[in-house]
Amino acid sequence: MAYKFIDNYREQGARKRLVEILRKKGIEDEQVLAAIGKVPRHYFFDETFWNQAYKDIAFPIGEGQTISQPYTVAYQTELLHIRKGDKVLEIGTGCGYQTCILMELGAKVFTIERQEKLYERTIQVLPYMGYKPKFFLGDGSIGIATDAPYDKIIVTAGAPTVPQVLLKQLNIGGILVIPVGDEQSQKMVTVLKTAENDYERHVLDTFRFVPLVGDRAW
Ligand code: SAM
Repeated sequence: MAYKFIDNYREQGARKRLVEILRKKGIEDEQVLAAIGKVPRHYFFDETFWNQAYKDIAFPIGEGQTISQPYTVAYQTELLHIRKGDKVLEIGTGCGYQTCILMELGAKVFTIERQEKLYERTIQVLPYMGYKPKFFLGDGSIGIATDAPYDKIIVTAGAPTVPQVLLKQLNIGGILVIPVGDEQSQKMVTVLKTAENDYERHVLDTFRFVPLVGDRAW
């Protein structure tokens, strides 16, 4: 895939229109909308497909994976209630678009991807764009114990259940956002860690993600 990094008026205009689409669909957090309005999503597409980059759709990125739909990225990000300086674990880096959104909100991001080709591409593209998260290659379904605990954990692939190991890696007051269900559809689940062994769980809207594959996953 040949990447080109030019952000011209056409793409900037399309990005503003995308922000308005997300607002109409119910995204309310102005900081999240501002981040969507700032990150050049077309940088993750081959130039041939730039006309698809600001549609509110998921799109193939190779290796059978997708760049998430902007609405889904905004929805999950809103649920995380990111505060500047939050330590965030992202499971499923993919192309890194969600990572950039989290970093625009001031999060310190630890991101893990299991597919080597995607990992290799993302560790080149993101620093080039000016984003320097801590990248990992491996199975994120077991979290990353060496850098735990985290203030927030976001899982960007569909899991069969909430991996308990991820809850252990959350700070008290921390939030996990994870899609849980079967391979066809998942409910977005948020878990707030209220005390060492106490959790408040909410089950929200239905989505369709690629599967979380790993030791505590499919
Ligand atoms: N965050 C991405 C974005 O910004 O568009 C979307 C990610 S894509 C929907 C889900 C990613 O999760 C895929 O790249 C997939 O390879 C990855 N994945 C699946 N299981 C994983 C696991 N156990 N650990 C790490 N990554 C995993």
